[in-house]
Amino acid sequence: MKPFTYVRADSVEEATDAFAAHPGARYLGGGTNLVDLMKLGVEAPAALVDVHRLPLDTVEELPDGALRIGAMVRNSDLAAHPTVRDRYPALSQAVLAGASGQLRNAATTGGNLLQRTRCPYFQDVSKPCNKREPGTGCGALEGVHRDHAVLGYSQQCIATNPSDMAVALAALDARVELYGTEGARSVAAADFHRLPGDHPERDTEIRPGELITGVVLPAGPASASAYRKARDRASYAFALASVAAVLHMTDGVVDRVGIAFGALAHRPWRARRAEEALLGAAPTAAAFEHAVDLELAAARPLRDNAYKVPLARRLALDVLGRLAPPVTT
Ligand SMILES: Cc1cc2nc3c(=O)[nH]c(=O)nc-3n(C[C@H](O)[C@H](O)[C@H](O)COP(=O)(O)OP(=O)(O)OC[C@H]3O[C@@H](n4cnc5c(N)ncnc54)[C@H](O)[C@@H]3O)c2cc1C
Ligand code: SF4
Repeated sequence: MKPFTYVRADSVEEATDAFAAHPGARYLGGGTNLVDLMKLGVEAPAALVDVHRLPLDTVEELPDGALRIGAMVRNSDLAAHPTVRDRYPALSQAVLAGASGQLRNAATTGGNLLQRTRCPYFQDVSKPCNKREPGTGCGALEGVHRDHAVLGYSQQCIATNPSDMAVALAALDARVELYGTEGARSVAAADFHRLPGDHPERDTEIRPGELITGVVLPAGPASASAYRKARDRASYAFALASVAAVLHMTDGVVDRVGIAFGALAHRPWRARRAEEALLGAAPTAAAFEHAVDLELAAARPLRDNAYKVPLARRLALDVLGRLAPPVTT
């Protein structure tokens, strides 16, 4: 075990200052991912800046009707929050589909968004991995890659993002709020995670030392939304494929739609082509099939994960069909 310094921050500024003062620091949220990676030797921070007691643990409605979720809100509290359940059910369902009750009691909103991939080569320091150690190669490319990406991957990395919450946030048009030594900014949740390209070591657009302070869900007309996840066993397992969808209708046609796939790519995959095809269309089974097929035509399965494409298709058609009111002819 490599010794490290431990600092507990009581304010956002104290946290970012402490991070800047300790080269090689990491923020510590609930610790449910970071501490595991430290035990595996994947992470060896010189300092831990503990942020899990920062006063960012509330869910508040903003004057314009948007909802701000503090970065330290625990996953259990987020999933159970009455406004989240009522107005953004896809988010509540996605959080409840992840991990276990005990883990959700400890895990934070910020930490969930920054959890690292579950690629087994990334977690095994004896194996090559461009994400863990740039330039060493990708063990999964020719190795075991049943759980890996079918969309948007590169020859440098074929890993998927493991977060269920992030998929719902992408579909719901949420924004991630950040604070660093250069001030505050926000990034659309759908653009927060990156595709791997030539730099798979960078999971997200976060800048060094920036702290996630919250997530904002937009106001707007109440839209039906839902999340569905397929996994190898009923609980306590990461997604093989998942989908979050938001649907709003006016005069019998779709006037707002957000669809994001999980476990298919290095980031939640916002299905822009499918959304474009659905806008202005009547919510029929044929329209949904056309839109989803258009999106998944971009999939390039690897040797052992072609099953993900029909699986994601069925999940998406099921969720969209459940959200759409029946069409009368
Ligand atoms: C057995 C098991 C099963 C799981 N199953 C699922 C699942 O099915 N679906 C799913 O989505 N997740 C699953 N998880 C992952 C779990 O959801 C994450 O471990 C958890 O959400 C991470 O939150 P945390 O607060 O503990 O993060 P931490 O472990 O504290 O931190 C994770 C990362 O985020 C950084 N960080 C933390 N907070 C901030 C912040 N505010 N600003 C900037 N950086 C920050 C840390 O430096 C670290 O790099 C599982 C975990 C385990 C152990
Ligand atoms: S898929 Fe990505 S995380 Fe996995 S071994 Fe390859 S480079 Fe590493």
